[in-house]
Amino acid sequence: MVCIVILGRQGSGKGTQSTLIEQKYGCLHVSTGDMLRSAVSARSELGIKAEALMLSGQLISNEIAVGIVAERLQHEDAIKATGVLLDGFPRNLEQAEALEALLAAEGRSITLAVNLEVPVEVAVERLLARGRSDDTEESIARRLKDYEIQTMPLLQWFEQRNLLFSVDGLGVVEDVFYRVASVIDDALDVACQQAAAHNKQTKRQSRC
Ligand code: ADP
Repeated sequence: MVCIVILGRQGSGKGTQSTLIEQKYGCLHVSTGDMLRSAVSARSELGIKAEALMLSGQLISNEIAVGIVAERLQHEDAIKATGVLLDGFPRNLEQAEALEALLAAEGRSITLAVNLEVPVEVAVERLLARGRSDDTEESIARRLKDYEIQTMPLLQWFEQRNLLFSVDGLGVVEDVFYRVASVIDDALDVACQQAAAHNKQTKRQSRC
């Protein structure tokens, strides 16, 4: 199963590009932000816990974030899916390590991380224009700062694993998606070749 992670600061267009990736590649889109917003609307225990933190732009605990993703990946649709697209997760090193372990336990791994690059000034403009309930100036500033401190180190983490593909997020949606799809296609080609080589090797080994 393919596992794509989409990274990018708030306002980089992750949500929009994720929908397009989902359509083109038939991936299951797993967005922690969407899951948490549904929990808030449903007034579930998790939603009630998360609401205030989300409104003020603070992250929920790693334990909860990892828990909801782990649970989501256990659903039948996720198990059957040929690909999963993670949006909003991992957001820090601890979550990335947890994801790696979670996937490894199932014999899976991260296929690639697409990093949407948009300058902070453009991101702020887009967020203010969007006006989601947590898009107040204060919350935006806090989330962007958290992004720099907690999420930016993840770029290096993915880079060290040769999984990082950065894409210019400026321009019209279609142009950005063209770039995104190109890096995904390239990475999927490589993953297919590696899988074929691995299968050959295991066949060879099993014959010995
Ligand atoms: P944004 O990236 O614009 O902040 P998201 O929809 O990804 O929007 O997330 C909204 C809020 O949900 C975050 O501000 C945070 O409170 C919470 N959240 C989402 N994903 C995570 C995560 N992986 N870890 C901790 N908190 C998260």
